[in-house]
Amino acid sequence: MSTPRALPESLTPHLRALAARSPAVARQFVAAAEESMASPFDLADPIGDAAKSPLPGLVHRYPDRVLLLPTMACAAHCRFCFRRDRLGEGRMTAAEIAAALDYVAARPQIHEVILSGGDPLTLPAAELAALLARIDAIPSVEVARLHTRLPVHDPARARRAAAALAAGRAARWVAVHVNHADELTAETRAALAALRGAGCFLVSQTVLLAGVNDSVETLSALFRALVALGVKPYYLHHPDRAAGTEHFRVPLARGREIMESLRGGLSGLALPAYILDIPGGHGKVWATDAFVAPAADGGWNVRAPDGSLHPYPADAPAATTVAPDGAK
Ligand SMILES: *Cc1c(COP(=O)(O)O)cnc(C)c1O
Ligand code: SF4
Repeated sequence: MSTPRALPESLTPHLRALAARSPAVARQFVAAAEESMASPFDLADPIGDAAKSPLPGLVHRYPDRVLLLPTMACAAHCRFCFRRDRLGEGRMTAAEIAAALDYVAARPQIHEVILSGGDPLTLPAAELAALLARIDAIPSVEVARLHTRLPVHDPARARRAAAALAAGRAARWVAVHVNHADELTAETRAALAALRGAGCFLVSQTVLLAGVNDSVETLSALFRALVALGVKPYYLHHPDRAAGTEHFRVPLARGREIMESLRGGLSGLALPAYILDIPGGHGKVWATDAFVAPAADGGWNVRAPDGSLHPYPADAPAATTVAPDGAK
C-alpha cells in the first residue's frame, strides 16, 4: 500500500465553467478528500512503464511500436490520472529526444511512434512540428500517433495546435481522451474538426470511471456522439489501480457486464475494445473471455500478449465505489 501523492488541482477556465454545469466533469477535475486515502486494492506498479523503458522518455513494450513521452505536463490535472506520480516532471531534453529517435531509427521493426505523456499537444507548436518532421525522416516509421486530452482541457489551444500535425510522410493518428458526452462542447467539437482538417485520423479513448461514466446509457451516448463527429471509439480502459484513485474504480466484472450490454445496442463503429493493462508491464489485453478468466480467490487470471499468465487481484467490492448520485 503506497501513500497517494497529492496532485495539485489544475483546471483551465474552460473546464471550470464546464464543471459548474456538469457533475461528470466536476468529479474528474475537482480534488476530492478520497484521494489522500491509500487502499489495500492499490497496486505499486499499476502499468509497469519502468520495466520496459530502455531510455529516458521511451517505453518499448511491443516489437512494432514505441511510446515517446516528450512532456509530462498536461493543461489540466485529471484526478484519476494513473501517471500522477510523474505528472509535471517536465520535458525530455534535446539529447534525450535525439537518443530516443536514434533508438527507433536503428530498429526497422518499429513501424509506429506514439507520442504520449503528459500531453504532447501542449508542446510549443514549432517544437511539436519539428519532432514530427524528425519522425517522418525515419523511413521505417509509417505511423505517428499522438495521444491528447487538450481538446477537452483547453479546446481553443487544441484548435490552434492542430496545424503542427499537418500531414507529413507518416500517417497522423490522434487518440483523443474523452470520458463523457458533456466534454463534447461546441469548442471541443471545433478542435476535433481542426484536427481532422489538418489531415489526422481520429480515434478516442475513454477511462471507465465510477460516478462519471459507469453506465450503459452514459457510454452509449458518448460513443454515438463521437462517431457522429468522425471519431472512432478505440479503447475503453479499465481504470488502473494507482494510489489515490480507488473512488473511481469499477470492478472488472461490472465493466465486462457493461460491455456485454453495449455490444447488443451499438453500431460496430461505436464500440471500443475494453482493455486491461496488466500490472507489472506485461501489456494491454482485451478484457474478454479469451484473455481474462475468474480465479478461485475472487480475482482474475489474465493471459498476456506473449501467452504468459498473470494474476489480477480482486477489486474492491462494488459497494465501496461511489455511486453516480454520490458525485459532487
Ligand atoms: C498502450 C501502449 C502502446 C499502444 O498500444 P495499442 O494497443 O497499439 O494502442 C504502445 N506502447 C506502450 C508501452 C503502451 O503502453
Ligand atoms: S490527460 Fe492523461 S496524463 Fe494528463 S492528467 Fe489527464 S489522465 Fe493524466
